[in-house]
Amino acid sequence: MVSSRPHTYSVEAVVVRASDFGEADRLVTLLTPFRGLVRAVARGARKPKSRLGGNVDLLRHIKASLAEGRSLHSVSQAESLTSLRGLHSGLEKMSTGLYMAEVAERFSVEGGPNPALFNQFVQMLQVLDEEPVNPLMARWFDMHVLRINGFLPAISDCVDCGSALEPKDHVFSPARGGLVCPECRATENDVLLPASMNTIKLLRHMARSRWDAVRPVDAGEEELRQAGRILREHMQFVLDRHVRSSAFMDEVTRWRPAGANSPSP
Ligand SMILES: [Zn+2]
Repeated sequence: MVSSRPHTYSVEAVVVRASDFGEADRLVTLLTPFRGLVRAVARGARKPKSRLGGNVDLLRHIKASLAEGRSLHSVSQAESLTSLRGLHSGLEKMSTGLYMAEVAERFSVEGGPNPALFNQFVQMLQVLDEEPVNPLMARWFDMHVLRINGFLPAISDCVDCGSALEPKDHVFSPARGGLVCPECRATENDVLLPASMNTIKLLRHMARSRWDAVRPVDAGEEELRQAGRILREHMQFVLDRHVRSSAFMDEVTRWRPAGANSPSP
């Protein structure tokens, strides 16, 4: 029993991954607000006269019509929603955008709706399109992808005993997911990352603020390096422990709209 006409549907999407496929096709991974990741083939996309043209290139924000296939869906139409011309013309902007695409993809699953994550991603691509590249963009995005998915690092109090942290340098434990006070520091085999007082201030500011309030911050090289390492290793633990587990899959499929007070750029 094979139905003669494939089911088709249309989605808003950003192309987060693209590779050549066969003679003239392109294989794409789309991030969508309500279907999570969708993998699809864009047939003939590399032919000079393809109707799909450049709309299935990396970091295109599109409205796509897709036809369901047995194993792969195929893109039958794609129209551009936001031009993002500035983003696509600069190598540095493109690499920051691709980094954010990778983070968004890693926190997403096929079939798992997460419109808050999608909207945050599109908003940051627009910021990247319009503003000069700022090293805090990627860090702010890391932090807010974590927030949207419920995995903010514990940076206000000690993650272990909950006691208030004195305003001075501390350490961050990726395995425990937060800053630890001097009493809770000693645990065998726990990798502890340096978190200076200024780094902690930067992390707290990023966690509670909209992009507009973070943009003017003139962060020092050391704070940027420490914050980058803390967020990267925290994300890695979160991804290894939770995101690929079935619990997270259940979580995303049960997704409900977040509160209206969520920060956005
Ligand atoms: Zn403690």
